[in-house]
Amino acid sequence: MPHESDTSNPSLWIEPRESRIAPVARVSMVAAVDGEYSFAVPDQLAGRVEPGKRVLVPFGKAREPQPAFCIALAEEAWTSTLRPVADVLDDQRLIDDRLLELGRWMSRYYFCPLGRTLAAMVPEPVRSQSGYRTVRTVKLAAVAPDSSSPPPKLSRQRKAVLDLLASHAEGMEIDELSEQSGTSPAVIATMIKAGLLTVETRREAPPAPNFDCPGAEPAFELNAHQRAAIAAIAGAAAEATFKVMLLFGVSGSGKTEVYIHSIRSVLARGRQAILLVPEIALTTQIVNRLASRFEDVAVIHSGLTGVQRSLTYTAIARGEKRVIIGTRSAVFAPCPDLGLIVVDEEQEPSYKNQQSPRFNTRDVAIKRGQLLSIPVVLGSATPSLETWYNCQRLPHFQRIDLPSRIAGLPMPEVRFVDMRLEQKQRKGIHLLSQSMEEGLTRTLEKKQQAVLLLNRRGYSSYLVCSQCRQPIVCPHCRANMVFHQSTGKAACHYCSAKILVPKRCGNPSCTGTLIRFGMGTERVEEELRSKFPQARLARADSDTMTHTRHYEELVRSFAQREVDVLLGTQMIAKGLDFPFVSFVGVVNADTSMSMPDFRSAERTFQMITQVAGRAARAEAGGHVVVQSLAGESAALQFAARHDYVGFAGHELTQRQRAGWPPFSRLARVIISHRSVNQAQVEANRLAERIREYLAHHALTADVLGPQSAPLSRLRNAYRFDFLIRAPHAGRLMEILDALRANKILTPNTRFALVDVDPVALL
Ligand code: ADP
Ligand code: ZN
Repeated sequence: MPHESDTSNPSLWIEPRESRIAPVARVSMVAAVDGEYSFAVPDQLAGRVEPGKRVLVPFGKAREPQPAFCIALAEEAWTSTLRPVADVLDDQRLIDDRLLELGRWMSRYYFCPLGRTLAAMVPEPVRSQSGYRTVRTVKLAAVAPDSSSPPPKLSRQRKAVLDLLASHAEGMEIDELSEQSGTSPAVIATMIKAGLLTVETRREAPPAPNFDCPGAEPAFELNAHQRAAIAAIAGAAAEATFKVMLLFGVSGSGKTEVYIHSIRSVLARGRQAILLVPEIALTTQIVNRLASRFEDVAVIHSGLTGVQRSLTYTAIARGEKRVIIGTRSAVFAPCPDLGLIVVDEEQEPSYKNQQSPRFNTRDVAIKRGQLLSIPVVLGSATPSLETWYNCQRLPHFQRIDLPSRIAGLPMPEVRFVDMRLEQKQRKGIHLLSQSMEEGLTRTLEKKQQAVLLLNRRGYSSYLVCSQCRQPIVCPHCRANMVFHQSTGKAACHYCSAKILVPKRCGNPSCTGTLIRFGMGTERVEEELRSKFPQARLARADSDTMTHTRHYEELVRSFAQREVDVLLGTQMIAKGLDFPFVSFVGVVNADTSMSMPDFRSAERTFQMITQVAGRAARAEAGGHVVVQSLAGESAALQFAARHDYVGFAGHELTQRQRAGWPPFSRLARVIISHRSVNQAQVEANRLAERIREYLAHHALTADVLGPQSAPLSRLRNAYRFDFLIRAPHAGRLMEILDALRANKILTPNTRFALVDVDPVALL
């Protein structure tokens, strides 16, 4: 990028002096301004300005100097007129060279200003050193204040202080000194004033929160597949080679045990390891398990207080914590000597950061592994098709299988219920089918536990009269119609009829207004309570689980069997292992119809497999009932047969035909505006300019859209979107670079945001 020097405030210029070589700082603003800017390093700050530290610089029309990250220092001939850096904010570097390099890549790839990217890598509490305490160390003054005059007569107290300090050359904290010498702090203060003692102040971090609770090693021996997997991972770590290893195995096949042993081999070489988990709710379980096997475990997730976060980062940076477990931001843990990164459940959409920089944690982990020449392990029972495909075509991707379940238990039986037929055959609205009710009844009779899962991604709900409670039914086939938020219409999933939603109840004797009877967890809970009044219910969704504490309490009460039926959204589908769960119900598996996304089949498959895994520990053999309004799709059929490999082959063929990832790369551009017209105009204009640019430069890529986004209205703005589709990542990056350099599309383009490798197209 060209040198851009900000010249709006001439009073702050430093006059050029001919033929002088001087240090120049390249900075990137923390505020979301794209680009790099140069500032002179004034003499008084020389040596303190360093890459990876924050500085304050005069910028634009702002009155106060603005924060920025220094990203490079150069000795340059001083030919241009540069404004000086105003101050340095950090004593220590927050970001080392390698993280800086990672940040540069992210800024480019994810189309985000560098300063903003770096700020996201080092969260605010860490930057401000929250939780640090100020330590004041007292030492003997180097020279006696006035050596020409005879030494003053010392009081006994003063003498005690001087004697004590004479034997503590490194200095002592005031409290310590006061206590050990039996002197009041006031006396010490007078001695400081008199110049007998000097004080140094520094900020120091107390120890980070501790998670260790060493327990016994499990008694079992690893099986042959696990040993082979560990040998492969530990081998790559020992050779310090970059490799991505997909650990492919169903839940209960022993993946976590492989992570533990692989991490251990890395620690044995004195290095650190990061284990990433997709959601904060899952950290509890895995932290408990790992904390009993390792010393110095650190945890990073969004539920930490600022102080905890800041102290944890410091401990990691000093190498005091060597096993780092956490969600998205843990991928930036400032490990000085990282040897391994493990990404558990690598396919999870929650790895995608939904704010700028919109990075995918798994892909950042892979990039970090590449920059450091270390292996990256991706674990999954249902790998993303991107990863699966990479294993087939890229030499540095390697697949390692854990083909069997440890206990040799069979996978549970999966039954499918077509809710369209059910609706025709039964009167009224039932969220739970007959098979579901029977399954629950049997489970409760046997005093076992059930999990009911509601797929929140479906935005479907029924329309019911608020007075007579009659649902709106299809004029053709009398099935209940489903309201679609994206179109504002009600659709029949039986015959595909669509109608505009009427204002009032269609019943001639009734004029009640219509309400949406949603598939929300609360509705299902209501129905459960009325049908199973004796069952003890617990509900887990983002409304009830606002804190890890709630989740821990839920896990505890379910584990102790104080709860019979656990009802919740996706968050309960993952990772929870309870031996008495013998029944799992999926209330609505309809991602495919209500989510206009090329990944809907993949998501459906993943979800069914995950929940089936929850019923899989039952000794008596578990049962799964899956309800759907959309018919039995290929994804559901493969899922019922527990056939990931078959599904992946089928789905990759579909994707290749349609040109979707992994056979292409996407950048989604979303235009939002308060005026629907303006949103459309801006979207058309921008899409057209990009099309022209691509055509003019003969770049093989296309622009799909614009169109009204599936979630067309969000936070009072209308949304239109279009996709830039390129054949591979390199080409997409090239295109985005060019659009950015030519200012056709930049991270600062008004009304527009860019999402590279979007995980959802809503
Ligand atoms: P995953 O992560 O694939 O779900 P885990 O590593 O959690 O699998 O293993 C499932 C269960 O089996 C755990 O309770 C674990 O302690 C146990 N386990 C793992 N490996 C073995 C083994 N080789 N022999 C016996 N039990 C094992
Ligand atoms: Zn119909």
